[in-house]
Amino acid sequence: MRESLAVLNERLLETDRLKSEFIESASHELRGPVTAVEGALSVMERHLEDSFGGLDDISRELMEIAMTGSDRMVALVDNLLDLTRIEAGAVSIEREEVDVGRLVEEVVKLYEAVAREKDLELVADVPVEGLTAEADPQALARVLDNIVGNAVKYTGRGSITVGAREEDGSIHFTVKDTGRGIPEQNLSEIFNKFSRVHLATEHEERGTGLGLSISKGLVEAHGGTIRAESELGKVSTFHAVIPKQAPGR
Ligand code: ADP
Repeated sequence: MRESLAVLNERLLETDRLKSEFIESASHELRGPVTAVEGALSVMERHLEDSFGGLDDISRELMEIAMTGSDRMVALVDNLLDLTRIEAGAVSIEREEVDVGRLVEEVVKLYEAVAREKDLELVADVPVEGLTAEADPQALARVLDNIVGNAVKYTGRGSITVGAREEDGSIHFTVKDTGRGIPEQNLSEIFNKFSRVHLATEHEERGTGLGLSISKGLVEAHGGTIRAESELGKVSTFHAVIPKQAPGR
């Protein structure tokens, strides 16, 4: 019995490894053509603008559909490549002193327009100055970008608060929204790749189920942790905690 469980476990690991290998090679192969389409579309738009003084309404609409689609494909392929790098333990964290308050404010600014459009209140709750961490600013921005982006995406009305504070040698980021919430049984699985609780029914809820798994990998590469808590239909809060200084210092 014990032996067959071990064999089953080994098979599952092998299947998982083959799946990861397939995703990695497929994304590498796709990166070239997908980027070529994206580049060709923007050159074509400029060419039509220069040669014919612009596009008629129907052509413009079709061009926008093609460009949005190709942007999403490039983003998806980039996410898949990042994920395979994270899974292979090959993600490199370039630490420097990061002004945490400013970082939060920058990410909040990115989503201000979308939040306004949805009539959501979006606020940064951070100390005016002096909150710093020894971290990778790009990786941290990516994590916050994913979590705040989700909060805006999955909140129909109310508010989103993005906070950061220092406690016991760690920096605690919190993103709280008054959105649709996450069922208790899904709270940890949403950090697995391709895991989606809310299936796309509307345009703005499209997604790939990769953002949180990438965020988890980036937070863990800092020696930190990430988790979510939620009251269904009322509120979701994401907590990302990283050491203020590089572990071992
Ligand atoms: P996606 O591209 O689908 O948003 P993520 O990995 O970022 O992928 O998130 C995984 C899933 O977690 C989402 O599909 C959604 O069901 C759920 N989720 C994430 N953030 C929130 C949130 N703030 N409120 C409700 N559900 C959320």
